[in-house]
Amino acid sequence: MLILASSSIISCMADALPLTLSTPMQYVKGVGPARAGQLLALNIRTCGDLLFHYPRDYLTYTAEASIKTVKVGEMATIRGILLQTRMIAVPRKPRRFEALLEDASGSAGGRCVLTWFNAYGLDQKLQPGMHIRVTGKVTVFRDRPQIVQPQWEKVSDGESAGQTGERIEAVYPATTELTSAVMGRLIGGCLEELVGQVAEWLPAGHLAERNFMTRREALVKIHQPRTRAEHIAARRTLAYHEFFLHQTAVALKRYHARNSNPALPLRVDDAVDGRIRALLPFALTGAQDRVVASIRKDLGGAKPMNRLLQGDVGSGKTVVALYAMLAAAATRRGQGPVRGQEDAKEKGAVGRGEAFEGHQAALLAPTEILAEQHSITLQKLLEGKKVKIALLTGSMGAKEKESVRKRLAEGSIHLIVGTHALLAEAVKFQSLALVVIDEQHKFGVEQRSAIRTKPMEAGGGMTPHILVMTATPIPRTLAMTAFGDLDVSVIDELPPGRQTIHTRLSPSSSREDIYGWVATRVKEGEQAYVVVPAIDESELELRTVAGTQEELQKGPLKDFRVGLLHGRMATETRQHIMERFRQKLIDVLVATTVIEVGVDVPNATIMVIEHAERFGLSQLHQLRGRVGRGLKQSYCILLGDQATEDSIARLQAMVKHASGFKIAEEDLKIRGMGQLLGTAQSGSTDLHFADLLFDPHLLPMSRRDAFNTIAADPRLLDASHGELRKEVLGKFGDTISLADVG
Ligand code: ADP
Ligand code: MG
Repeated sequence: MLILASSSIISCMADALPLTLSTPMQYVKGVGPARAGQLLALNIRTCGDLLFHYPRDYLTYTAEASIKTVKVGEMATIRGILLQTRMIAVPRKPRRFEALLEDASGSAGGRCVLTWFNAYGLDQKLQPGMHIRVTGKVTVFRDRPQIVQPQWEKVSDGESAGQTGERIEAVYPATTELTSAVMGRLIGGCLEELVGQVAEWLPAGHLAERNFMTRREALVKIHQPRTRAEHIAARRTLAYHEFFLHQTAVALKRYHARNSNPALPLRVDDAVDGRIRALLPFALTGAQDRVVASIRKDLGGAKPMNRLLQGDVGSGKTVVALYAMLAAAATRRGQGPVRGQEDAKEKGAVGRGEAFEGHQAALLAPTEILAEQHSITLQKLLEGKKVKIALLTGSMGAKEKESVRKRLAEGSIHLIVGTHALLAEAVKFQSLALVVIDEQHKFGVEQRSAIRTKPMEAGGGMTPHILVMTATPIPRTLAMTAFGDLDVSVIDELPPGRQTIHTRLSPSSSREDIYGWVATRVKEGEQAYVVVPAIDESELELRTVAGTQEELQKGPLKDFRVGLLHGRMATETRQHIMERFRQKLIDVLVATTVIEVGVDVPNATIMVIEHAERFGLSQLHQLRGRVGRGLKQSYCILLGDQATEDSIARLQAMVKHASGFKIAEEDLKIRGMGQLLGTAQSGSTDLHFADLLFDPHLLPMSRRDAFNTIAADPRLLDASHGELRKEVLGKFGDTISLADVG
């Protein structure tokens, strides 16, 4: 009696064991090894995975209609018997399966053609004599109603009463073997048993107050909604949960960034403030002033600054960065600021003096051209001052790099400008107080996460202050998601005297006229850029820029000096060309997108973009931002042939909107949030339901709730936060420091 074969014990137990979220799929009733293998192809290993395999869409079945009354162009559900079926194969065309359906109105004319394309195997499933119900949009085919690609289901012959009212059904991401219907049955089979085990990390009262369901309820309704309204309510609930989780991680990160390692307080008193301003070639705009005031306040504290500075192209972010960097240099190491009532003017770091003892600051730029430009700007500004500036980029010689590294380590370089080489080259600082990251959206994903998760070592257990700058203005809501842990400043005002850039869309057939017009402007002393799109194959790309330069130089612009600039030139050549353009020794610069960010030559007033339809919207806006930097009227000509719907939308947005914020909103509409988030910033793209456009209130609401939660319980140690803590650390543990939280 007691001796049972062990294998049978196991199989008995497997049958009897209750399912849990971690039960492997093959132990679910009706799922054998073969099915389990198919499920694996959809990344479904456990029952939990199955439960979170969300529908990708829903089908709404309308009430059944008789074929005689259906209207062309409208959705209809009809039921009847299949009279004939046939598979039609025409060479070089997709296979087509056709069936003729007759409904109860029969010989009175109730016949409808059903057509499916690429419907392999459908001839096995649908055979004459079968009763089916189909739903789809009605068209006309040889004077008969037709439904192409209808949804169908088998109904029993005896089913008499026509379906009334609306019915909604989940459609799952599926494979050929695992159809949506099979998925629906599998999920339906264990939903009830499993859903009670799903973690709830928000109290039901909290949810009810905001008109949400519990997570469990929402899960049931997302799989098996009875009405469209139910499905939308479930989706809202799950979106809120996702946002809330994400924002809790953001709040944790922010809290702990501000409360772990101290920063070097950089107190900028009025004397230092005055000296820095005196160095700048112009008075700050109101917006720049406001940002500077916030930065001054941040820098003075022992909590590290973590600020995002957003400002449209050309709004003047560079001087704000300079201000902050000079503030670092003006603060004496180990003591307060470099000042003193009497000797301030003589010995201040940004004045003349003997030994310079300020802290260091680093400015990171995404491209070598931009780094080179910033370093030139700084050099000019600080000519004759004691502050020492250096450049570090990947293409510099090994010896030169070594020397820069050495001087940084001993503290004889105070301001360093560089590309990500600064991160990679094992650079040690003597006393790094501030890191500025310019055009941060242009850094690669890995570089970005390196910058954010392991900022350069300041030395002495300190954390450097960080200022992140971006010219791709992100809609506020998106900023909350992507940069949620940063304080945000915005420069919402352009320097005085700026005029709106005239933007115009021209077909490539008008190229000749356009360059004729460019020639007349250049004759008047203005300068122009011509941008040619990057093509993956770099050889081809070169030929295109070089070809365009040659063509323009020999043709429409033969009376002028047409230069050439691309990313594969040696650093010196590139610098030389930029310098010549700046000095007006070159009139028209034909370039690849290397000039996209940061390049600043105020006398350039014309931007011609060739094949504009190939560029992304924010890229077009950035390129346009290279002109309109001075007092003169500037122009942007988009030469392009409208190819796809998206490209038409992009080009039209460019003509319509001058503001980067508007452009970014359009971009969000065209591209959708997932993609933008992916390119915008680390964060998590693990947002399935969270969609900024679906309900604009969800994100701010979840953000408030999450920040309140962390303010009250910064480590989520309260017993009621157990599930939340587990979930946040499980999902975001690697982006927030576990040491701080756990
Ligand atoms: P971006 O925000 O795109 O980095 P820049 O910092 O390059 O913009 O500034 C754009 C141009 O505006 C530069 O030529 C700069 O010298 C000029 N500029 C910036 N601030 C002011 C100001 N307050 N008054 C006049 N010109 C300014
Ligand atoms: Mg800039």
